[in-house]
Amino acid sequence: MDMDHEIIIIGSGIGGLIAGCYLAKSGLNVLIVEQHDKAGGYCTSFKRKGYTFDAGVHNLGSIDKGVLGKILMEIEVHQDLELHLIDPTNRIIMPDFDLKIYSNFDQTLAEFIKVFPGEELPIRRFFDFILFQDFLTVYSKVKKMTFKRLLDDFFSEDAIKATFSVLLGNMGVSSLEASAVAAVILFRQYVLDAVYYPGDSMQAFPDALVRKFKALGGLIVFKDKVIKVEKAKPQTFTVSTETGRVLRCGIVLSNSDVSELYKEIAGAKNKEREVVDSLQVSSSAFCVYLGLKDKLSEFTKTGGCIAKAFNYKMDSYIPVPALDLGRGDVSMMVFSIPEYGAIDSSQNNKSGLRLLVFAPYVSEEFWAQNKERLKDRLLVLAGQTISRLADNIEFAEAATPVTMRRYTSNRAGAGFGWAAIWGQSKVNIIPQRSSIEGLYLAGHWTTGPMGQSGVPGVSLSGRKAAELIINDLGKKWEYPLIKL
Ligand SMILES: Cc1cc2nc3c(=O)[nH]c(=O)nc-3n(C[C@H](O)[C@H](O)[C@H](O)COP(=O)(O)OP(=O)(O)OC[C@H]3O[C@@H](n4cnc5c(N)ncnc54)[C@H](O)[C@@H]3O)c2cc1C
Repeated sequence: MDMDHEIIIIGSGIGGLIAGCYLAKSGLNVLIVEQHDKAGGYCTSFKRKGYTFDAGVHNLGSIDKGVLGKILMEIEVHQDLELHLIDPTNRIIMPDFDLKIYSNFDQTLAEFIKVFPGEELPIRRFFDFILFQDFLTVYSKVKKMTFKRLLDDFFSEDAIKATFSVLLGNMGVSSLEASAVAAVILFRQYVLDAVYYPGDSMQAFPDALVRKFKALGGLIVFKDKVIKVEKAKPQTFTVSTETGRVLRCGIVLSNSDVSELYKEIAGAKNKEREVVDSLQVSSSAFCVYLGLKDKLSEFTKTGGCIAKAFNYKMDSYIPVPALDLGRGDVSMMVFSIPEYGAIDSSQNNKSGLRLLVFAPYVSEEFWAQNKERLKDRLLVLAGQTISRLADNIEFAEAATPVTMRRYTSNRAGAGFGWAAIWGQSKVNIIPQRSSIEGLYLAGHWTTGPMGQSGVPGVSLSGRKAAELIINDLGKKWEYPLIKL
């Protein structure tokens, strides 16, 4: 049977786009099918009334020292991507103190010691352990721990443990459940590396990847959803889409949530079918996107991403429990302010602001009942932090976990795919080379020690998927091993 394409990639999230670039670069005929009208998945931006908002991802880490910078060099996207350094990278406002994380580690260390003078020695020991020890040494010591247990080993004060727990918003899992290995990788690869903002909106990043993919000969179609994948014979898949395309290919690479695919894929036995329903997914998010008449100069000066904890209940930061959300009782909220662009140039006195709480999916009915009430509650809470906020609002729109699911088809609107919790962070639970010959995965619905989530994680998984496919096709993988 003739093939339409050697490889079809389902979804143009960052994992799918990175894999597509490597595969097209090695001369393979690759098609990406994307259901949305733009590329990027959670890393997209949208426009409303002259404001541009980032739907999910608010900054890119792991570029200076981590994996993403190396990947962008290998696929040669770095020259085509304008990156603005964000420094400080994070500000954490706790009930009794305020702390900043900088792109320069020594500055961050000094900040922690200034805020917690009594904990100087444990702070130095902790950072030395998570940042500067050989990764395999760290892995062997923490592989059976949760992140909370690791924090307990170093610190006695709840305040410092809660501060580190706030930062796990970057993987969508509470510190009480998070795998310590995944959390250590998050700190090494992302939180304590510099972070950047691409071009004039987050969309600039996936758009640069699409330009590269097409320049390498790749094809991408938008506004079409893959609805069925059938294994026709050992070396052939038939991929059917919502608009009626029926395409044949030798390899399918799924960058989408695989739960349904594993249950429905015709003509193929797979062990993953047994486990997808038993795995826990990461937290989703409730967001309020605000268009403001004036720039928030005083507030923005302090950093692009500001997390505010209203108490020290670190088990209710990520996600905030449904019962608390229903009462408008929020333990932690994140303010994201795109400092670069993100506003149409004709309106450049204005600014956009996103309020976010980590939230569970619960049900469509729950969000239909609570969306407006929770939006109003977040506006009140934000108004207590930012002076004159209420007078400044020109536009406000909320997105619930149901919205997150609708735009990306991620199960339960999960922001980070499978939860990187202890016991669920092994490569072989949902492996990238699946048990169905010719079906591979890239993105945050594969499992691994680092949870494969966030832009650095899914980028690495996209690279890994390409490496597996290229090796399995008997071609040479020409890039060096990337060490964590
Ligand atoms: C609110 C929020 C904020 C975040 N902030 C950050 C951050 O600042 N930094 C960071 O590193 N990470 C952040 N993350 C996490 C990060 O966005 C994700 O882990 C990562 O982007 C997921 O990438 P992915 O490749 O797995 O694909 P996804 O982003 O999940 O994209 C999947 C793509 O596949 C498409 N698709 C799905 N099913 C089909 C189908 N059947 N047919 C065709 N197309 C299909 C979807 O439309 C989508 O484009 C955030 C997440 C959220 C929700």
